[in-house]
Amino acid sequence: MDLPLVYHPDYTVSLPQGHRFPMPKFRKLYELLLAEEVAYSHQFHTPQLLQAELIELVHTPQYVQAYCQGTLDPKAQRRIGLPWSPALVNRTRVAVGGTILTAQLALNCGLACNTAGGTHHAFPNYGSGFCIFNDIAIACRVLQKLGLVEKILIVDLDVHQGDGTAFIFQDDSSVFTFSMHCEVNFPSTKQQSDLDVALPVGMEDDAYLQILANYLPDLLAAVRPDLVFYDAGVDPHISDRLGKLALTDTGIYRREMQVLSTCVAAGFPVACVIGGGYADDLDALVYRHSLLHRAASEIYRQFRL
Ligand SMILES: [Zn+2]
Repeated sequence: MDLPLVYHPDYTVSLPQGHRFPMPKFRKLYELLLAEEVAYSHQFHTPQLLQAELIELVHTPQYVQAYCQGTLDPKAQRRIGLPWSPALVNRTRVAVGGTILTAQLALNCGLACNTAGGTHHAFPNYGSGFCIFNDIAIACRVLQKLGLVEKILIVDLDVHQGDGTAFIFQDDSSVFTFSMHCEVNFPSTKQQSDLDVALPVGMEDDAYLQILANYLPDLLAAVRPDLVFYDAGVDPHISDRLGKLALTDTGIYRREMQVLSTCVAAGFPVACVIGGGYADDLDALVYRHSLLHRAASEIYRQFRL
């Protein structure tokens, strides 16, 4: 069997011309993986639209209903930063369904990757920073409710702190939140994860990977999770418009290999989401996101999962 991947055509919806969120990246990532034979069509699984009741395992019914019906007040809508449309509601629910499906596949196969996900700035009663519903948090709750897992570790390497996720699980010892991010960056008010590692502006590949190596193996040994969620945001890249670190493409690839091999070699299944990434050069950005799937395919082969 080959590495399971998750994609839905509705991951990409059209945004107004000139909008700064690179929405076409999701479809282009899927196309690139196929075109470069990183993956074949039989590897892709299609998620379902997630029911509101499951979203409400994390988010307040008032927020879920207001967002889905398009009745959020303008201030709350601006905080999200994406223009509301019925297509975006559908997209959001499908993407959360995709992260849940990715997690189920990871539990069955040892490793699986979504081609979207990582909306870690969403809080129970509001969205923020291009994040509407917190996909990983909802997936944690759904999997626990189904009795598939008890203990979960979230490894969030997006350059921005996973503030929504940290807040949601602040009093929940069954989900360990680890965020490694740039200290001077959005969100200006940080939440407290179970482990926060704040990095200085401009950090390069070797220093970054060394710090990661200092934490991840010990963390896995201490938490012993039934499942790891990995948010592989590529916004720590030197060319990212919103990140302030200085990783190269090679550094990102080494990071993905390091995270996945460390977890898989120790016997922990990993569900991956792509996280943030912002660049004017869309092809370069999509390639950067594809490094996750390239590394995951390699690890899947190496470990004969
Ligand atoms: Zn980010």
